[in-house]
Amino acid sequence: MRRLVFVSLLLALVAGLLFAQAGNSPAESRPAKTTSTAPRVAGLPSAAEQAMSAVDPENIRAQVKFLASDLLEGRGTGQRGGDIAAEYIATQFALYGLKPAGGNDSYMQKVPMVGIATQDDTTFTLVPDKGEPMILRNRTDFVAMDETTNTHDEVDAPIVWIGYGIDAPEFNWNDYKGADVKGKVLLMMVNQPPSDDPKFFNGKVMTYYGRWTYKFEEAARKGAVGVILIHKTDMASYGWNVVRNSWSGERAYLRDDPAPKLKVASWIQLDVAQKLAQACGMNLEQMMAAAQKRGFKAVPLPAKLKANMLSKVRPFDVNNVIAKLPGSDPKLRDEAVIYSAHYDHLGIVPGMPGDNIYNGAQDNATGCGILLEIARAFASASQQPKRSIYFAAVTAEEQGLRGSEFLGKHPPVPANISLDLNYDDVPPLGVPEEVNVAGAERTTFYPTVESTAKDFGLKIVPDSQPGAGHYYRSDHFSFARAGVPAFSIDEGVKYEGHDREWGLEQAKEFVAKHYHQPSDEYHPEMDFRGDAVMARFGIALGWLAADQPTLIGWKPGDEFAKARAGSN
Ligand SMILES: [Zn+2]
Repeated sequence: MRRLVFVSLLLALVAGLLFAQAGNSPAESRPAKTTSTAPRVAGLPSAAEQAMSAVDPENIRAQVKFLASDLLEGRGTGQRGGDIAAEYIATQFALYGLKPAGGNDSYMQKVPMVGIATQDDTTFTLVPDKGEPMILRNRTDFVAMDETTNTHDEVDAPIVWIGYGIDAPEFNWNDYKGADVKGKVLLMMVNQPPSDDPKFFNGKVMTYYGRWTYKFEEAARKGAVGVILIHKTDMASYGWNVVRNSWSGERAYLRDDPAPKLKVASWIQLDVAQKLAQACGMNLEQMMAAAQKRGFKAVPLPAKLKANMLSKVRPFDVNNVIAKLPGSDPKLRDEAVIYSAHYDHLGIVPGMPGDNIYNGAQDNATGCGILLEIARAFASASQQPKRSIYFAAVTAEEQGLRGSEFLGKHPPVPANISLDLNYDDVPPLGVPEEVNVAGAERTTFYPTVESTAKDFGLKIVPDSQPGAGHYYRSDHFSFARAGVPAFSIDEGVKYEGHDREWGLEQAKEFVAKHYHQPSDEYHPEMDFRGDAVMARFGIALGWLAADQPTLIGWKPGDEFAKARAGSN
């Protein structure tokens, strides 16, 4: 296998040199394509190999460079830059000859949203029964959102320490047991109880219970008026700057969502929480330690939250951009395989000093570049797979997976979606030797994924940060929630010419310095060969899924199997 790869590399290099010598090279000189040949994959027709061979890393580069340019203004949801990105992607789909699939003969699937921006004069004060009130500074000490879409809400409510804020019957864990939380503000910590037992909160892998989205949703369902999440860098897997950047501007929600909402959905810094505990005559470390143990009971604190929530609220519409390649089988073509990647990022944050454009080059212009290149490759193939293939560039991922949530609830496919393959944040670091398909092992498709990875010479590796809950942090999760088997395709950490340490270091550095920051920008040194490998790997998987006789399912007993049964 190795030797084969080497020979094909050499051939490609020679071909590249010849091509350059023939004087056909474009004005901007392109590096030689070193991985232009696709591997032989068992069970694939030659048209699929054609499609895989059509994938060119330099095309992905061109897309990333444009989508991440300052002119696109960070592709903010409900901002001009986001709308331009959507139009651009629709135009690309049209140029490839793909059919519109957003409804009404358009590539655009309208997603009705409401934007909520917390005003600077919002006040947030922790008031212990004894001692001085703690007046917190917006963005420095706290961030908060009024999810109700009221422009003004006053909250004056007692605070209850609720530990993780998790009610998980399948793990026999309920922080809410016996607690009176109606109309209260719940102080809680992020993440989930620590575990080495795969049967208890999936061991080291974060479940959805560990995610802040779940914690807000659950507290609202239980009738709480507000939540204060304590930010602790190691437990959240990202720093305060990420929280601040994600919560300072407008946050967008699906409009007319009937789910209960919080008047105060907030985060505070760790030291603020420590001071609050102290003022209550308690110790935060001890409170947290106690909350990690079974049998924890919620503790009403001798303190209140007084918040004057002032919000700017505006309804608006954005779009998922969806194209379709009709399947070749008259019976199976009503079913589909779908590729997805979010095109939105954090946009422009008005009033922020310095560079305030969140370009989102890696997150997620890379995924869009891959999605577009896959779409182009499928459209250029001489033959189509049996089931239809859909390409969905979704919006509002950074707002809490809103675009894909809407798509999962309103799929444009007449019958079942067999599989969703998603791309989010695929580092342009060179040729990968590993692939991460976390979640694939939960589906009946996994044997095919394993054999295809083998054909590609890619080792399947688990998420290098299992505790970060990545499965619940990108758009495939919206499909999974709707019952559709779904996972993201990403590189591991081992790259050709480097050891694993190097890859881990790159990943760590990205999270620390660039993730959700204006510095996630395009650089010419970026190497998109790995993104191309991930695209070809995805084409192989999608094609195999689209041609196989039966629909893919979740393995029996999986948390999403019930939703699948409901959708059939
Ligand atoms: Zn992303």
